[in-house]
Amino acid sequence: MSFREDGHAAVDWAARYLEGVGALPVLAQVEPGELRSQLPPEPPERGEPFQAILDDLDRLIVPATTHWQHPRFFAYFATTGSEPGILAELLIATLNSVGILWRTAPALAELEEHVLGWLARLLGLPAGWHGHIEDTASTATMTALAAARAALPDRRVVVCSEQAHSSVDKAARLLELDLRKAPVDAEFRLRPDLLDLDGACAVVATVGTTSTTSVDPVAETAARKGDVWLHVDAAYAGSSWVCPELRWSAAGVEHADSLVVNAHKWLLAPMDCSCLWTARPQAFRAAFSLVPEYLRTPDDVVSLSEVSFPLGRRFRALKLWAILRCYGREGLQRVIREHVRLAELFEGWVREEPGWELCAPRPLSVVCFRRQGSDEENEAIMERANASGEIFLSHTRLNDRFVLRLAIGNARTTEEDVRRAWEVLRSCAR
Ligand code: PLP
Repeated sequence: MSFREDGHAAVDWAARYLEGVGALPVLAQVEPGELRSQLPPEPPERGEPFQAILDDLDRLIVPATTHWQHPRFFAYFATTGSEPGILAELLIATLNSVGILWRTAPALAELEEHVLGWLARLLGLPAGWHGHIEDTASTATMTALAAARAALPDRRVVVCSEQAHSSVDKAARLLELDLRKAPVDAEFRLRPDLLDLDGACAVVATVGTTSTTSVDPVAETAARKGDVWLHVDAAYAGSSWVCPELRWSAAGVEHADSLVVNAHKWLLAPMDCSCLWTARPQAFRAAFSLVPEYLRTPDDVVSLSEVSFPLGRRFRALKLWAILRCYGREGLQRVIREHVRLAELFEGWVREEPGWELCAPRPLSVVCFRRQGSDEENEAIMERANASGEIFLSHTRLNDRFVLRLAIGNARTTEEDVRRAWEVLRSCAR
């Protein structure tokens, strides 16, 4: 078979998968080790046709896959690998650009900076910020905190709220910084009046926390921070700023030193694509620039490898470019508004139903709720619902109670899917 024929077969496979994914069980119905027990212990001696891989996708891989592309995936933060993003991944691998320096991949370097500029405009970020792409928000936050540590080398503390994502804890650990957690209010938002920034090089405010999508008061935090570096983790919620009516949660972000928004969460990018902007690119450069002799060139440009940790980078900008062009501002707004509408609808059903309760405000597309009863009962409802294969949702703990979360974020999710989720949950509670 030729590359062209195999390629057509692979795209056919992808199209068929996306058309039919809604009929598959969302959560993989396998036991740990089940896939490995079916794989040959020895690596292949001779090459096989590519078609054999496609056959094994159906036979082995799909049954052992939890389908993040499923319209009834409601766990964690639901995501979408959109069609333009999927096709762009093929083209990215085709070009196989390695962006170590501007001259090794001029298109990659310039498109990355340009598309991050576009996205900054779409999200209403301040003009003049420098943006680049990291793999994940974990890496982006660690990168930002490394820049903060280098900018204020005498201070060894990072401050964030009790509701901040564990990636902040992990970054602090790896950077050998102490982490200080600030208390939150009754709506799970950082309390700036209780912020202790003594000895801090950085404070992290979260816009859209992982448990409840609560929004820390960024403007008040900024007003108290003095010269401490302010990093804003808007990994999930930042994408919603494409809608002007949702920009209230961006208030104060203009005072940030750095900001992360995951395009692979709510902006239709296939994993991975994490956008990191900074108002202080020189501080990033001071922390990260290291150009060995073999990479010296006379080109008058700063390579992206000088503002971040990895030397080589993938051409992720190509998929973001494809998504922004194929959807446009209007298309992105349509997806996000529909998710917020569906979450509001679900929230209303829970509110109206005796025996169920809402557990946190719902600013965006995640609903936190529970059956009135014990933690064990709620956990059992979730496990039964997930085992049904009909839906997949996850949980959190709030005020020391087990709480269910329904996160809407897949572009294929319809009102019918959300209705089905509610039916499944109610029937699992009986
Ligand atoms: N920040 C927040 C608020 C998150 O919810 C998450 C993950 O869900 C992260 C950071 C980490 O994201 P990533 O998986 O891109 O490292």
